[in-house]
Amino acid sequence: MRLTVIGCSGSFAGPDSPASCYLLEHDGHRIVLDLGNGALGPLAAHADLASIDAVLLSHLHLDHIADVGGYYVARKYGPTGPQPPLPLVGPRGVAARVVSMYGDTTPEAMASVFDIDEHRPGPRHIGPFTITVTRVRHPVTAYATRVEAGGRTLVFSGDTGPTDTLIELARGVDLALFEASFLEDEVRDLANAGDLHLTATQAAQHAAAAGVERLVLTHLVSWNDRAATEAEARAHFSGSLELASSGLVIDV
Ligand SMILES: [Zn+2]
Repeated sequence: MRLTVIGCSGSFAGPDSPASCYLLEHDGHRIVLDLGNGALGPLAAHADLASIDAVLLSHLHLDHIADVGGYYVARKYGPTGPQPPLPLVGPRGVAARVVSMYGDTTPEAMASVFDIDEHRPGPRHIGPFTITVTRVRHPVTAYATRVEAGGRTLVFSGDTGPTDTLIELARGVDLALFEASFLEDEVRDLANAGDLHLTATQAAQHAAAAGVERLVLTHLVSWNDRAATEAEARAHFSGSLELASSGLVIDV
């Protein structure tokens, strides 16, 4: 299974990266995790937009869904003609949110482009991918996503504060793609930080507790120092560690 980081900038698009978006490929199939601000163009540089098998949204904050609006246009009016409705999976309320996103779209028009479904317990099969989600800790309903294909497994945290459910979902996986929005210094004065995001320290501690060998830190807010983020995490994680960047390709 191949992971391509399309966007890894936390909370808004940064100077070097779109907001949240990840392309997973295996055996000629492709799924996309999140489709945040600015992701659609770089995604098209890595994959034919008509070749995507499904889009899975971790939660409905704008930096994880904004370019669904553009993708609606690309699929509906693209030169290859209308495509079959594309599976689009997200939290409860995803259909209404996506319909309102472009501005003047009807539910019927959106349903002609996206086959919209909500996350639910149990595995979901899309091509060679087996996908499992679990609720994590965030101000809106949010999920971490586990994807398995070809005997390799990845867990994407989405946005979350510290939570044991992420550790359980990630136990023993080959790669943890965990958010690290904060540095420890930032959260000391932020009373609600634990319900928002992980620090780099906490991301590393969650990966270590899950017994993961390879950790990629993502959802990196552009005003944070990347070296400081990496140094914080390294103090708590002895396995392979790197920071995501737009265009990074990893064979999981
Ligand atoms: Zn969020």
